[in-house]
Amino acid sequence: MGHPTLRFLGGVREIGGNKVVVEDGPDRILIDFGPSFSPVWEQYWGQYLQPRSSSPVKDRLEFGLIPRIEGLYSEDALAGSDLKPTDPGFQAVFVSHAHLDHAGHLNLVDPRIPVYASAGTRQLLSAIEASTFTRYGEHDWRTMPYGDPVRIGRIEVVPLPVDHSIPGASGFLIRTSEGTIVYTGDFRQHGPRGAETRAFVAAAAAEHPAALVTEGTRAGPDPRRQFSEEGVRSGVDALLGTTDKLALVSCYPRDLDRFATLYAAATAAGRSLVVSLRTAYLLAATRAAFPNIPIPLPGESDGLYVYKRPKSRYFPWERPFLDAAVDAPWVRAHAPELLLSLDMSHFAELIDLRPDAGSPFVRSMSEPFSEDDLDDQMFRRWLEHFGLELHQYHASGHASGKELEQIVGEIAPANVFPVHTEHPEAFVGWAKRTTQPELDTPYPIG
Ligand SMILES: [Zn+2]
Repeated sequence: MGHPTLRFLGGVREIGGNKVVVEDGPDRILIDFGPSFSPVWEQYWGQYLQPRSSSPVKDRLEFGLIPRIEGLYSEDALAGSDLKPTDPGFQAVFVSHAHLDHAGHLNLVDPRIPVYASAGTRQLLSAIEASTFTRYGEHDWRTMPYGDPVRIGRIEVVPLPVDHSIPGASGFLIRTSEGTIVYTGDFRQHGPRGAETRAFVAAAAAEHPAALVTEGTRAGPDPRRQFSEEGVRSGVDALLGTTDKLALVSCYPRDLDRFATLYAAATAAGRSLVVSLRTAYLLAATRAAFPNIPIPLPGESDGLYVYKRPKSRYFPWERPFLDAAVDAPWVRAHAPELLLSLDMSHFAELIDLRPDAGSPFVRSMSEPFSEDDLDDQMFRRWLEHFGLELHQYHASGHASGKELEQIVGEIAPANVFPVHTEHPEAFVGWAKRTTQPELDTPYPIG
């Protein structure tokens, strides 16, 4: 029998869309399965033009947006496609974390294939399904305790926690018959769980791996300012100490660490944090899964309020928070005592909130990569219209290029495969060998 192989069906020269196939003799697993943030997608599809739910595989294959592969998709998802339903060709799908570009295509997967995720990731995926229109499909879900090997024939997968901008994230040690493949998932070491990433790197190095499949989001040139999570905290602390106006902030809706940071900063400044109904639901639905993160709990934690946007009808998951929720007139009346979290998609609320000119707005998300980003232009126009002052405090979910170089050196794999990056060439010279992977090409291990 031949060597085990690694094959990449996505995440190649792109940030996102990881789809990694590990094959060892008769055994085959898939690691992560999310949509590409591909320019091809934006050329053919958009908010108002989506693949049909009656033929999701067919419509995506038309533009090469998902891999043409047998034994992965469910019979329902294959409807209308020239790919025919077969017996499952994979024994398992492993999900590293609950971000869309790693888990967003699970709804296409054959329900006979078990899907493995950490308890935290599983809880987040359920909460996202319950409070959005995102669907991950019906699966034979298996929860992976960290450190416990999962055996799939000749392949053994050891999930370990890593720090990322969503809790519950895992890296994997994938032991094959001819050596270990280390898969980092998305990771950083400057967040609140940096120690977990350090421990993962040490465990990975101890394997003397044949291959390292690492993300490289921030490899190559990146002029954007970055802070650590502590840096975000001190930036927001300083800002809240110098204003007596309403403070506003936007951050990624699933970055629970950021909500913990903002809550702590608000509390220390004698303010209360105000979050959306959706954030309130997510905090309440996932807090038990993350006992080590100081996630505030709506209805229980002092200094936490839920903002109710006026709507004609509320979803069942929103209703438990409505009685105690606050509205725009209340926020206006208590402006100097509050830090209000407001996503750009809810900027229409500013028309009612009417913050005083000069009120600070903290963008606690990535800066746009280019100056002609249309969303960013709209964002800035709204701030200008209301006279809000922009402040940038964000900690990336990803290790910097320098840190990646040091981590690759420490793990010292025989071969490094950069994925989830537009700059795989930046890795050349960091390990004995660097393979800049090509799509759908099998690379032998060992
Ligand atoms: Zn991610």
